[in-house]
Amino acid sequence: MYRSHTCGELRTENIGEEVVLSGWVQKLRDKGFMMWVDLRDRYGITQLIFDEERTSKELMEQASQLGREYVIQVKGKVIERESKNPQLPTGDIEILVSEYHLLNASLTPPFTIENDTDGGEELRMKYRYLDIRRNPVKDSLMFRHKVGMQVRNYLSNQGFIEIETPYLIKSTPEGARDFVVPSRMNEGQFYALPQSPQTFKQLLMVGGMDKYFQIVKCFRDEDLRADRQPEFTQIDCEMAFVQQEDILNTFEGLTKHLLKEISGFEIDSFPRMTYAEAMRKYGNDKPDIRFGMEFAELNDLAKGKGFPIFDDQELVVGIAVPGAGAYTRKEIDNLVAWVKRPQIGANGLIWVKYNEDGSLKSSVDKFYSQEDLLGWAELSGAKAGDLILVMSGETNKVRTQLSALRMHLATALGLRDPNVFAPLWVLDFPLLEWDEETNRYHAMHHPFTSPKPEDIKLLETNPGAVRANAYDLVLNGNEIGGGSIRIHDKATQAKMFDYLGFTPEEAKEQFGFLMNAFEFGAPPHGGVAFGFDRLVAILDGKETIRDYIAFPKNNNGRDIMIDAPAKLDEAQLKELHLEVKL
Ligand code: ASP
Repeated sequence: MYRSHTCGELRTENIGEEVVLSGWVQKLRDKGFMMWVDLRDRYGITQLIFDEERTSKELMEQASQLGREYVIQVKGKVIERESKNPQLPTGDIEILVSEYHLLNASLTPPFTIENDTDGGEELRMKYRYLDIRRNPVKDSLMFRHKVGMQVRNYLSNQGFIEIETPYLIKSTPEGARDFVVPSRMNEGQFYALPQSPQTFKQLLMVGGMDKYFQIVKCFRDEDLRADRQPEFTQIDCEMAFVQQEDILNTFEGLTKHLLKEISGFEIDSFPRMTYAEAMRKYGNDKPDIRFGMEFAELNDLAKGKGFPIFDDQELVVGIAVPGAGAYTRKEIDNLVAWVKRPQIGANGLIWVKYNEDGSLKSSVDKFYSQEDLLGWAELSGAKAGDLILVMSGETNKVRTQLSALRMHLATALGLRDPNVFAPLWVLDFPLLEWDEETNRYHAMHHPFTSPKPEDIKLLETNPGAVRANAYDLVLNGNEIGGGSIRIHDKATQAKMFDYLGFTPEEAKEQFGFLMNAFEFGAPPHGGVAFGFDRLVAILDGKETIRDYIAFPKNNNGRDIMIDAPAKLDEAQLKELHLEVKL
């Protein structure tokens, strides 16, 4: 028996008991005649005491050889501590050690195994197994497990069944590049790893499994923007015989359940907004609605007053920043510089201070009267003491720029409280999205998404205006889920591939299996997938998903612990019928 108790378990009630503990040496304090060791495992820390008088000198000597992170087993008696430690759940007791076994020695760890470690990110990733011994990482992984269990229980109780789908498949259309795997047995052919189980879950609906879910790995070979991972986890779901409303209700139910059980946060029902409204009000399809600062479109009030910068632009749009009327000139200059950085790329920023005395002072006083500015204040909802910031430009661009500024200011003003949760459904996404690079339309969600029946006629005349039965769940400014009602008949699906520029041969080659299945009684169906890593992080009030992944990759897609990706040796390449040309 390696242990009778864990290192987080013993309390005053156990005083007098003989126990056996195993764990890692967290800390040593050696006074010569007496020595204390903090013994750690996943469950906590228990203090051990080695005492020359009460045990043997030999034992003391042995124990003094211990080092940090040595793995030991001890036998001893639970005694009351002389100086108690109220910070520690086991802080009232200690173990008077009578026997001790070294189970394994350890090199000195390259960083301290403490909550606040001295190890930098790179180093901790290289020795991730040591990092996992630290409370913050360990707790995050346990938190993730807890969320996963809640998801599984909730969906199972709703009649969903978890079904695994294969990883060695062929290209799936989620808009990223595929990771590919060469086939040894099929010369010159490759599998692709799933960007999502999309086609398989649709086939499960054809198979009659009308409520499917899976907590599943997805693989997308994308340039890794901050806080993305090439392999990540989704809560993937699909339902048959449902309309959009059924799906929204089901997954609103799941999210509410998680918010309540995990984060203790209750909310009645989630607000909804169309994509068009989100873009108009927040310049963003995943608005953070924990705070206001809604966009005010000022074209009617600001154009035609002789201010050439506004007159020539498509959109003049502003926000009221609460309580920022007292910003100094320097603070405002900093904001102007911030939006002019190439990452944001704005031409400039106009400001209006709404003074406490009700007067208005702006950087464009030459062109606008107090009355004009008061109109801006009214439209943007500014009150005395606020600051109005206005930008102008091409509609999509200026919305994106002002959205970035809105988030920047909200962070600076502390309006993005991680303990507040603001979920939101964004509905009616466009079906198609113009791609500048390829000069053609792409499916905004994926090619299996159904257009709104009333918009189908627009496909010929104004494809960009066709709305889809597609929806996203947004939480605190993050897209945590997205899905759609699917096309379920072959003719419409074929037409969609055609619009997206697939020749009939290409469509057949890539998705023939799905089109065929649609000829065998495919039920109406739809679904959604949630980004599990991000959902977990947000529920825990954090922003980085890396902390919730046991073995994450770095920004270059490398696992620096195992040093992957790596080269293959000649024999392996030959077996796979591959030749590497660099
Ligand atoms: N497969 C989609 C995705 O990964 C989700 C869905 O449409 O259900 O975004």
